Amino acid sequence: MAYNHLPTEELQALDAAHHMHPFTDGNALNKKGARVITSAKGVTITDSDGKEILDAMAGLWCVNIGYGRDELADVAARQMRQLPYYNTFFQTTHVPAIELAKKLSQLVPGDLNHVFFNGSGSDANDTNIRMVRHYWALKGKPDKKTIIARWNGYHGSTVGAASLGGMKGMHAQGGLPIPDIAHIDQPDWWSEGGEQSPHAFGLERARQLEAKINELGEDKVAAFIAEPIQGAGGVIIPPESYWPEIQRICDKYEILLIADEVICGFGRTGQWFGSQTMGIRPDIMTIAKGLSSGYAPIGGSVVSDEIASVINSGEFNHGYTYSAHPVAAAVALENLRILEEEKIVEHAGKVAAPYLAGKWAELADHPLVGEAKIKGLMGSIALTPDAASRAAFAAGAGVVGLMCRDRCFANGLVMRHVGDRMIISPPLIITHQDIDTLIERATKSLDETYAAVKAEGLLSAA
Ligand SMILES: *Cc1c(COP(=O)(O)O)cnc(C)c1O
Repeated sequence: MAYNHLPTEELQALDAAHHMHPFTDGNALNKKGARVITSAKGVTITDSDGKEILDAMAGLWCVNIGYGRDELADVAARQMRQLPYYNTFFQTTHVPAIELAKKLSQLVPGDLNHVFFNGSGSDANDTNIRMVRHYWALKGKPDKKTIIARWNGYHGSTVGAASLGGMKGMHAQGGLPIPDIAHIDQPDWWSEGGEQSPHAFGLERARQLEAKINELGEDKVAAFIAEPIQGAGGVIIPPESYWPEIQRICDKYEILLIADEVICGFGRTGQWFGSQTMGIRPDIMTIAKGLSSGYAPIGGSVVSDEIASVINSGEFNHGYTYSAHPVAAAVALENLRILEEEKIVEHAGKVAAPYLAGKWAELADHPLVGEAKIKGLMGSIALTPDAASRAAFAAGAGVVGLMCRDRCFANGLVMRHVGDRMIISPPLIITHQDIDTLIERATKSLDETYAAVKAEGLLSAA
């Protein structure tokens, strides 16, 4: 269904006048005008001028089942008519909350059988901060409250979640981080591994966790939080030595392991959860994004039997008006039904991922590309003036990445840049034909970027 709308320039002027965008230089955007997206179907978004763009980011890593599934719209309308809202605070519950919690306890591995719902991934990580500290307090260890996280990790944008995150630009605004959060370095071999082998580097970065625990004292450390694969940080796939060592350290020192599965969950890495792909056993999982394929805002903390039994021993003074919102929960449930019945996770892992991985690897031969890495359907390429030395550009971080991103947009492809890494995370329903188109447009954009970089004399190493 197409809606009539104002001409693009008028929409852009109104957007500039009244709408403040997240993570955006407002004045710079308002000067050129935002792209207005008006509809979408499958893996393709359409803007207000009718231009069709292959969305290789699935929105913000979330539209796992693809755009335009009427079933979710129908379920939302039905649920709004039946029970648009009720809370779960005051000894009440409702059917979508019950069914979704039960379904998640079946899908999530291990004994993570209990869900605390909220409206987003950020909310869920704020819940995690309070829950793990309260957990240790109830166990008679109120000093066990520091949470260790990683530089360049992303856990959301609320004060608590952004404190867990390791984005220095976010910490610089608004008085972050909150107390009792510590950060260790990320397992990004390409930019930070120096002369070490990836294997040795992975171990070294994991052992920073052990060193930090020893520095703070294990009786002071509540939890370690990390994304199985860093998303917003640039799709950083850690060396294989990394996660087993992290798991060993968490077990040894009785540190709760929180896997932030907001991106990795629901098929992104080729299995249902990134924890399965990376072989870890978290005590808590943060979920959002792919939980509803982005069709409705919902997130959750999925916790172990042990944590639930401790937290449930008294009142947990925490909750959101929209915890387990019935419409969002019903939409999520329908999304999970489609993921399961249409075997979309299997398609992603066994059909789309191997085909994409082969093509993606070939991009490493491009003169502007250093490494090309991919796991399931999340991948990145590192742009570099010199692949052999893994050098950065003298132009400064992100200058060339932004040029490439703009070329992609012009060529009908959404590929994001994080500094000088180009990243993709397409809808899981992507077909071989869509993948061919993706690679074709990415290659064309890389060629054009390379030509421009050369012409502007930016091909020198820092
Ligand atoms: C997006 C994201 C979040 C935050 O989720 P919101 O729904 O934006 O609040 C948390 N963790 C990770 C890993 C994310 O990618």
